[in-house]
Amino acid sequence: MAGGGRPGGRCDATELGTVSQPRAHIVILGGGPGGYEAALVAAQLGAKVTVIERSGLGGSCVLTDCVPSKTLIATSGLMAALERAHDLGIQFDGEAGSAPVSPAPAQARVDAARLNSRIRDLALAQSADVRTRLLAEGVEIVSGHGRLAAPGLVAVGDTEISADTVLIAVGAQPRVLPGAVPDGERLLTCRHLYDLAELPSELIVVGSGVTGAEFASAFVALGSRVTLVSSREHVLPNEDTDAAVVVEEVSRRRGMTVLSRSRAATARRTASGVEVGLEDGRTVRGSHCLLTVGMVPSTHGIGLEESGVATDDRGYITVDRVSRTSVPGVYAAGDCTGVWMLASVAAMQGRIAMWHALGEAVQPLRLGHVAATIFTEPEIATVGVSQQDIDRGVVGARVVKLPLATNARAKMEEFRDGFVKLFARRNSGIVLGGVVVAPQASELILGVSLAVEQQLTVDQIAHTFAVYPSLSGSVTEAARRLMLPVDLT
Ligand SMILES: Cc1cc2nc3c(=O)[nH]c(=O)nc-3n(C[C@H](O)[C@H](O)[C@H](O)COP(=O)(O)OP(=O)(O)OC[C@H]3O[C@@H](n4cnc5c(N)ncnc54)[C@H](O)[C@@H]3O)c2cc1C
Repeated sequence: MAGGGRPGGRCDATELGTVSQPRAHIVILGGGPGGYEAALVAAQLGAKVTVIERSGLGGSCVLTDCVPSKTLIATSGLMAALERAHDLGIQFDGEAGSAPVSPAPAQARVDAARLNSRIRDLALAQSADVRTRLLAEGVEIVSGHGRLAAPGLVAVGDTEISADTVLIAVGAQPRVLPGAVPDGERLLTCRHLYDLAELPSELIVVGSGVTGAEFASAFVALGSRVTLVSSREHVLPNEDTDAAVVVEEVSRRRGMTVLSRSRAATARRTASGVEVGLEDGRTVRGSHCLLTVGMVPSTHGIGLEESGVATDDRGYITVDRVSRTSVPGVYAAGDCTGVWMLASVAAMQGRIAMWHALGEAVQPLRLGHVAATIFTEPEIATVGVSQQDIDRGVVGARVVKLPLATNARAKMEEFRDGFVKLFARRNSGIVLGGVVVAPQASELILGVSLAVEQQLTVDQIAHTFAVYPSLSGSVTEAARRLMLPVDLT
């Protein structure tokens, strides 16, 4: 009974818990990380939750983009590791200099059909896990294409579902250039790769942003001849320049052809493969072309304009740091907002939206604390402020860059390329960010990320034990090098 505490006394916790609020109905458009993570939070907070999804739970993240690409990279990473086998004293049966003792091939080869079937199966299994989890939490799942009929009303086909709060998390899809329309067989977007029966023998990758660099690096390791067409001076133009230079050097050394300052104008099929026309008149030929020229939000035709939900000139939904759109009661999360196209950011935006909508205390999204990784060979992981911010004077910081070449563990494992870079505030020594370029940088960045989130100082990191020998030892050593004598702090 509401307000039923003892007369004149305070309600105890149990009684407070029984004060009943009308159960909010949250309707979520899109079942990717932006949508399903939000659904879990809303369900945990006691809301009735409906997720509308037109393809499969987990979204493009699980079914076509992040999960499949990292599964591919699990195989390409192993192939790249095998390149070091000789240096580590390993000889394969059948190789010159060793007695052939089995019919095993001297050189590892990738079975593209098996690899792709593993990738597709793993993605489906992950999607099924997400679905099971949502159902276990009592979330209703509706299959179909949804649209915002009005604020507080979502339509799926002829069915209309009213909602106290709507979250739009419809994601994005690969951008298509007018002169290079994918056909799914030879002219590909990243979503076509896992349907190929064979490995591309000569892959032309157009675009040297994160997606292009990751796939170019992976296919070199898998055994394709790769040409990367980059419109900029360096690959990964928006990343830490030192890191991008390392990845480009390693890529060239491993046999990739990088065409810098070369902008693709057209891509078309020929009798035997593909032909990419560059703006300067040159032509590049290969067996397949992978187009990685950005993403566009899936926001067209879903009733946003009619309901007054503001978008920018490229169609991304405008949101604030608690995921509110321009319309009260309508929130948006993930790639369709264009804030930062990462699964972790999409998930956090979705959770924040629900905490805010359901009246919980909430911390607005802090992009300065996002840890991100580019899964090239080696990987680049970053968190916090960037070298560019420091060079431009936006942030005052001291910087140390420690090559991995001197790290004992790196030597043991034959990693020569990579570094740890740490940024710390000038006097206090508070860690502001860092860059790790290493084979497992995605795992190593957590220590720096914790430091940034918790505002730890370089002294605190320097006094933290790292295992010897370990690559993470370079993080604590970098911190030691940034320590100042006490009378200078
Ligand atoms: C090749 C590639 C690799 C990537 N790798 C990484 C990585 O390693 N790490 C990382 O953090 N991020 C990575 N990303 C980015 C990551 O995949 C996205 O940031 C993430 O998927 C965004 O989640 P989302 O929920 O916004 O959208 P999505 O995952 O795209 O989900 C949106 C869902 O909405 C559904 N939908 C759309 N419209 C409607 C509608 N009208 N009605 C019903 N349903 C609808 C779609 O079917 C889809 O399932 C990668 C992206 C690409 C392209």
